[in-house]
Amino acid sequence: MIKKWALRAIVAYILFGIAMYAYLFYLADTSIPAALKGTKADPATFLNARELMLTEEYSKIRNLMFFLATPYEWLFYYLILIFGVSAVFERWANVTTRFFALRSAIYLFWLSIASFIIMFPLSYLSYTISKSYNISTQVFSSWMKDKVIEYWVDYAMMLVIVTVLYALMRKFKKRWWLAAWVLSIPFSIFMMFIQPVLIDPLYNDFYPLKDKQLEAKILEMADAASIPAEHVYEVDMSNKTNSLNAYVTGVGSNSRIVLWDTTLERLTDEEILFIMAHEMGHYVEKHIYIGIAGYILLTFVGLWLTAKLMERWVNRRGKAWKVEKMTNLSSLPAFLLITSVLLFAASPLTNWVSRHQETRADTYAIKMTHDKEAGVKTFQSLTKAGLSQVNPPYLVKIFRYGHPTMLERIRMIDEYKIKGK
Ligand SMILES: [Zn+2]
Repeated sequence: MIKKWALRAIVAYILFGIAMYAYLFYLADTSIPAALKGTKADPATFLNARELMLTEEYSKIRNLMFFLATPYEWLFYYLILIFGVSAVFERWANVTTRFFALRSAIYLFWLSIASFIIMFPLSYLSYTISKSYNISTQVFSSWMKDKVIEYWVDYAMMLVIVTVLYALMRKFKKRWWLAAWVLSIPFSIFMMFIQPVLIDPLYNDFYPLKDKQLEAKILEMADAASIPAEHVYEVDMSNKTNSLNAYVTGVGSNSRIVLWDTTLERLTDEEILFIMAHEMGHYVEKHIYIGIAGYILLTFVGLWLTAKLMERWVNRRGKAWKVEKMTNLSSLPAFLLITSVLLFAASPLTNWVSRHQETRADTYAIKMTHDKEAGVKTFQSLTKAGLSQVNPPYLVKIFRYGHPTMLERIRMIDEYKIKGK
């Protein structure tokens, strides 16, 4: 019976992979709409033939990797659950100690090691592909070091979450999800607060802008948008990647705008100022706080749904997996599988909200800089540096794009009418 379920899951995964491959490589139309041919949004006007070819090729591979990796993780949770491996991990934890927190530390250690090993080939493949297209510049030892740090950061966070979650399940038989939701609010805000000062520096070096002339220009602009000056940072990324980026992070006194040094090295001052104005748009319009509010709402629905689905599923099939009841740690893969599926299902919605905010930030940048040309140039440079597909397939856009496509962004800026000009 269990073998039959496993076989079905594996076959479904393979069929899905083939269908996605056909869609991404052959069926989806990624050409430029006729009306935009020859405009500034048409990559043929700013990329050479080789870059055009590489952009399509690289994006197709990345997109396929994305759609293969997520259900691959689901398959892992599913198989580890139904073959009773999760129950074995729990037994190992239970024979070692009577203390619950320690048991969850041991159980989680085995689960995350197994997950790391199973996921490793995919992430290594993704790294080598990125390297062969000259996007990643990171040497293997540095990449591996990041992986190890990531492993322990995730482990520590999961340990807190899982220990509290299962304690709540034992205490509140029916309403544990509600208690978990209430606790998740201060926990996530705390995590966002420490992210830029405690977690991000584990991976990279952050420091004030090196180029003091540029800094002065940025501060002048920050002043106009009433953003405190000490909130602009540079991060050392050039030994890891060739792509360009900038972002807003943190909350409260730890909120800041971060620019990758690659961005600072390769763009002109006007283009950097356009990006800064965009980031200031996020800051001024408080997109992080809107994001937190949306997240709290989604977590409420998500945890309620997870509780319903998980209770039903474990009660019905638990015996066969040697997971006696839901409050056993060994039911965790079911929790992770359900939440991951729900997150994926919600991603078109969250991405849609994010794309909307990005468009607002772009508009803010045009209004602030009055420099449409710098805006267009910036996105052309970003396309070139990251080998991004200007017009991705529809499914890629709704599941992967938290930003509008480059075609949409360049077109919007190009067609924007600045008032009074
Ligand atoms: Zn943005």
